[in-house]
Amino acid sequence: MDRIAIDNINIIATYSFKEIDCVICKHPLIIACPKLIQSLHLSNSVSIGQCSHIFHTYCINKYIELFGVCLCDLNGWIIKSIIDI
Ligand SMILES: [Zn+2]
Ligand SMILES: [Zn+2]
Repeated sequence: MDRIAIDNINIIATYSFKEIDCVICKHPLIIACPKLIQSLHLSNSVSIGQCSHIFHTYCINKYIELFGVCLCDLNGWIIKSIIDI
């Protein structure tokens, strides 16, 4: 059997928000946080931090007001991107 050598590999990760829960409210990221629904904000979005942790934007914004750090790693929260769902 011949052997091949791989010189370079470029791995691209994909997320499925269906399978990831928001650590703060414990609901899937694909579904708006129940508190967001109660407050009649109809758009759901998720916030991804520089640390790669992901939360409902609504949930992390409330959390940051109180604590100012990422819930998962306790470092200062810096938003990398916000994705509307
Ligand atoms: Zn949430
Ligand atoms: Zn984090």
